[in-house]
Amino acid sequence: MTVENSYIEVAVAVPVYHTFTYSVPQYLLPFVAAGKRVLVPFGRRRVTGYILGSSQDCGTAEIKHILDVLDEQPLFGPAMISFFQWISDYYKHPMGDVIKNALPGGLTLYDYASLTITPQGKQALKGDAINPFERAVLKLLDSGPCRLNHLSRKLNQVVPGALIQSLERKGHILKTRELRQASIKTRQERFFALADPVPALDRLSKPRKKIIDILVKQGEISMSELKRHVPTAARLVRALKNDGYLKVRHKRVYRDPFGEPIRADNPPVLNAEQQSVVVQIVDSLNNGFTTFLLQGVTGSGKTEVYMQVAAETLKQGKSVLVLVPEIALITQMERRFRARFGERIAVLHSGLSAGERYDQWSRILQQKADIAIGARSAIFAPFPEVGLIIVDEEHDSSYKQENNLRYNARDLAVVRAKLNDCVALLGSATPSIQSCYNALSKKFIQVNLQHRIERRPLPAIKIVDLRESLGYRGQQRFIAPLLQQAIKDTLDHRQQVLLFLNRRGFANFALCQSCGQPQRCKHCDISLTYHQKANAFKCHYCGFSRAATSRCDICGSSKIKKLGLGTEKIETTIHKLFPDARVARMDRDTTARKGAIVKLLKGLKDQTIDILVGTQMVAKGHDFPNITLVGIICADLSLSFPDFRAGERTFQLLAQVAGRAGRGSFPGRVILQTYNPDHFSILAARDQDFDSFYHQEINFRKALNYPPFSRMIQLKISGKDPALTQKCAHKLGDRCRTLKTLNSSAFGTIEVMGPIESSLTKIARRYRWQILLKGRHVRALHQFVSQLLAENSTVFHHSRVRVVIDVDPVSLL
Ligand SMILES: [Zn+2]
Ligand SMILES: [Zn+2]
Repeated sequence: MTVENSYIEVAVAVPVYHTFTYSVPQYLLPFVAAGKRVLVPFGRRRVTGYILGSSQDCGTAEIKHILDVLDEQPLFGPAMISFFQWISDYYKHPMGDVIKNALPGGLTLYDYASLTITPQGKQALKGDAINPFERAVLKLLDSGPCRLNHLSRKLNQVVPGALIQSLERKGHILKTRELRQASIKTRQERFFALADPVPALDRLSKPRKKIIDILVKQGEISMSELKRHVPTAARLVRALKNDGYLKVRHKRVYRDPFGEPIRADNPPVLNAEQQSVVVQIVDSLNNGFTTFLLQGVTGSGKTEVYMQVAAETLKQGKSVLVLVPEIALITQMERRFRARFGERIAVLHSGLSAGERYDQWSRILQQKADIAIGARSAIFAPFPEVGLIIVDEEHDSSYKQENNLRYNARDLAVVRAKLNDCVALLGSATPSIQSCYNALSKKFIQVNLQHRIERRPLPAIKIVDLRESLGYRGQQRFIAPLLQQAIKDTLDHRQQVLLFLNRRGFANFALCQSCGQPQRCKHCDISLTYHQKANAFKCHYCGFSRAATSRCDICGSSKIKKLGLGTEKIETTIHKLFPDARVARMDRDTTARKGAIVKLLKGLKDQTIDILVGTQMVAKGHDFPNITLVGIICADLSLSFPDFRAGERTFQLLAQVAGRAGRGSFPGRVILQTYNPDHFSILAARDQDFDSFYHQEINFRKALNYPPFSRMIQLKISGKDPALTQKCAHKLGDRCRTLKTLNSSAFGTIEVMGPIESSLTKIARRYRWQILLKGRHVRALHQFVSQLLAENSTVFHHSRVRVVIDVDPVSLL
């Protein structure tokens, strides 16, 4: 999209809500296009902005010139701009910051771009075909490489980016991008092919002949692949090239986030249930916007449905977006999709290096990929024409981003599908109450997979009442005899065991035996968790850590008792109980290093792990046919959260983790230990009875006017000064009530709850308060907050108290 006049609309990456008009000087006009970044003056600063298009608001006073155009190609297309605008408006977030959040971090590289002169540039310097400005730049670079942002200073005049781009195009200079120390320039590799014609081969040595043979057989081949066949290839190809046998070409290659080769597969024959679901969705691919909710029991073959619908979408020349809640699952999804669709896949998630993300984003922009698989941020993949957006495990709360731009990728998938007039496909074995309600009220179309593939049975779930273990000491208190026996049986059959406890660390509660006080974090109102391997007490909220040998904060005693449970303790105990078993643990402590998750999953797949202990990371979507026993150590941890979704989360988590058992040819079983054997979330999970859970839960929501019967916006107020924070919270509460009273016709139905202190009253030295706004009508509620924001900008932009607007909050703690 080119810009017609010399006025452009720019969203600036600073916290202001509206966009600005800038003018474009003549010499930059050819480089301006929507979706590119520009450098603009803003107050006394120079900041990055994003071109949204031509500005209608031209000719008014005090319009400033842009200083530079930062990109050669747009970073996003016109279709994305309306999406960004919707997000900015709905989540009450500044437009420039929305775009900044959407773009992969690796793209913000301008300040680190570095320039070097090429041989052609040196040549040009000798001639007179260049203008004086170009000569000045080349002359400077001739004395050594220079950072782009140092260039103007060294030359003592502003060097426009357009001039650099033109020198670059002529091949006089080379621009590389550097990110901090690490270079993220595009990776080039040498490729070899046979020269045409090939000189006589009879005098070639044996190894040289071998290279020629490979080229005859395989055609063009990369250096790295050639080396795999002939380790000494580097030396040999040089000689072969000099003697005229080979052609050499430099090609851009993409970093592959995956190490292993993947064998191609063909679509299997679907069962009748899958077939009917695929047909129904494929039929609507050309009929505009539709959202499907695919409810399929664990192990029912949802991924195969995704892939077959995706294949149809690609046939129509449109792109496919696949969102997956966690990196570990992306790896699996990616493998399945790669086996089916080959190299047309881009992967986007936070586990990639900046360079890798930059590559993936470029591949999408250059239309070298038409399927993107990723975590929540993949919703921003810059495809010009999306035909299908899949959200796997749509109930998962990790689709909600909990900092900065607080969006929910599941909800945005539906919004983007609507803006693109295409299909959104939300899948889960345990759909969110919200999505089920949308299906029942006909906003979504529900499709079901009620049986596991090949009619495998769902695992049998047995409940163990932990209250009966209270009298036991030691291991039996948290690994009941029934579970212990089941683990033994499973190991005897050479099958695998998954043990689930949604809490990491060794002991989650440290109590001083002298003064009786719990050991708390220095910065948070949270008790510290003991980690055995690190030999330290750690705070799970702010990362604070203190040596395990340290004394009580309050009385200085060294007698600190470590109580409670965590995955680390389970792992240690299992080692003691089953010394011959190969035990591994999967939680945030063991998976912090890049590649660690993949390694653990591979261990499960290759059966080099007999027992895997883990947090909710193990509950999600994994498919390992040899796991036949799942032990839930304590089902109650999430039940006691002061949050209206506690029941929903508990049910989903238990049903999901139970679903990991018996996915192969052996039937699975689940042992669920709990202190609340009569709680309806636990009973429903035992019976895997989603309908009964839904009906109980929806009645509770209705009675208390919670979502889906209302919408919520939470104002989170926090600050380091407790009194000031409290004062600010109360002031904001008063403003809410005043606004409601003054506009009772529009806002009369909105409930203002609070301010109250948050359940977690202090985190990372900040005292926390909250106000919850509830409304039956989304438009009125949003209007209310927009007006509140407009009329109280000093409260919302206080220098010492932060007020964050969380639209459709997921965590109320
Ligand atoms: Zn003490
Ligand atoms: Zn802390």
